[in-house]
Amino acid sequence: MALRSGGAGLNPVLNYIDGQFVESHSGKTLLTVNPATGEPLAEVARSNGEDVEAATQAALTASASWSATTLEQRVKWLHTIADALEAKSETIARLESLDTGKPISLARRVDASRSVSNFRFFASMGEDDTSPTFSDHGAINYVHRTPVGCVGLITPWNLPLYLLTWKVAPALLMGNTIVAKPSELTPLTAHLLAETLHELEFPKGVFNLVNGYGPEVGQAIVEHPSIGGISFTGGTSTGRIVAATAAPMFKKLSLELGGKNATILLDDAPLDSIMDEIVRASFTNSGQVCLCGSRILVHESIYEAFIDAFTAKVSALKVGDPMNEATQMGSVISMDHRDKVEAYITLGLEEGGNILTGGTSTQAPLADMPEQGAFLRPTVFANLPISSRTATEEIFGPVVTVHTFASDEEAITMANATDYGLAGSVWTADIQRGHTFARNVESGIVWVNTWLNRDLRTPFGGVKQSGVGREGGRWSMDFFSELTNICIRQP
Ligand code: NDP
Repeated sequence: MALRSGGAGLNPVLNYIDGQFVESHSGKTLLTVNPATGEPLAEVARSNGEDVEAATQAALTASASWSATTLEQRVKWLHTIADALEAKSETIARLESLDTGKPISLARRVDASRSVSNFRFFASMGEDDTSPTFSDHGAINYVHRTPVGCVGLITPWNLPLYLLTWKVAPALLMGNTIVAKPSELTPLTAHLLAETLHELEFPKGVFNLVNGYGPEVGQAIVEHPSIGGISFTGGTSTGRIVAATAAPMFKKLSLELGGKNATILLDDAPLDSIMDEIVRASFTNSGQVCLCGSRILVHESIYEAFIDAFTAKVSALKVGDPMNEATQMGSVISMDHRDKVEAYITLGLEEGGNILTGGTSTQAPLADMPEQGAFLRPTVFANLPISSRTATEEIFGPVVTVHTFASDEEAITMANATDYGLAGSVWTADIQRGHTFARNVESGIVWVNTWLNRDLRTPFGGVKQSGVGREGGRWSMDFFSELTNICIRQP
């Protein structure tokens, strides 16, 4: 059985195990589809536990030699990989746009560039790494890192290569070998990463890629007794299954999960200068960024002015063909996901909300879009109770709800009134007020007067049901290594 390429002239997506591209053991396949057109892009290996077993055995075998390389050698590899990916930036952007339906301009600016900078950043972390030492009681302590061993990396569809490389780079830097599984909806760029490593003659077995469905491949990775750590990014309900499987095995576990983030405009927020940022925070990647602000809390004194300006800007967003350079919002990830988002829009109406702009694809159709394209206009709801399901459950689409508050205390109560705690932003002319406010929001990240401003050295992760643990900078290095404290006293 040979896998077929799809209509876009793409290669079939195989597994990459022990330095070889292979079909799944069962020979089964699935299709990855362009969500903007409904057309198949490529046939993909549909794997199961047997493929995970082969990948894990390859990773375990490679572990001995890879963990014995020096940090300097691994840093050099990360730079080499960054250079090779950078040379393919345009291909990465195109594949990501085809696979996800996101605008090509966004895929270039965010996905392609960050996939390269993840490798460069962790290379520089390796260059600067110094082991902390402590001395007391006539003894010196120092911290020695060893790799976890073989780690499982499981990633979602919204930022496919960006999020995969965010895990692959620190895992390699710390001397681990990898079994990775991308979302079955967006396997193209993980395959491109495997092709790139293959071209570079990267040591075989160090990076292994197994494609397929979550319950068939992801679950087998999480369950595998020889995989010592799991770094998972995805939805909270899947994260709960991952935790239930991995925690009793005492695996190292990092969970980056869902969010329902608040964008909070205090009464002194300078509306004119921040409006473009508020729109960006709401609808980047069709709202399919875990950090997007999907609940906008506005002080009642500026509500009318905010609504007028915000609605005007949102209705003017150019939604359409992701390959058109002028497009600002493409499709959502799939027709199934569009159905889910539309069900929330219908629910929002049932819960008493008013749609200020947008609506379902029937209520607010887009002319000239393919019938099988998963397009939606950006949708803004007003008048929904802050406790409504629409305002508290993660929709992960182009839908925001706007609410008013009368005092800072009320805004904080509203911001914290969800099960999630991933990110949030506060907008104010008074920086001191911003500091105070930020410290009271139950969240892994709070931005003041900015959004998605990422310094890769900072801790990244959520509280409550948004996750467990932190990645980023030294927190990634800590996750992907075991720390031994060595205490030495002169004889
Ligand atoms: P899912 O939770 O559905 O899937 C995430 C990954 O887990 C996919 O590769 C999926 O495979 C896999 N998976 C599914 N079931 C299992 C299982 N039983 N065991 C192991 N792995 C499994 O998330 P989505 O792909 O739908 O991504 C969207 C979600 O990701 C949103 O909730 C979003 O908030 C969150 N996210 C969080 C981020 C953060 O940093 N906190 C960043 C980006 C997104 P398959 O696709 O084949 O089912």
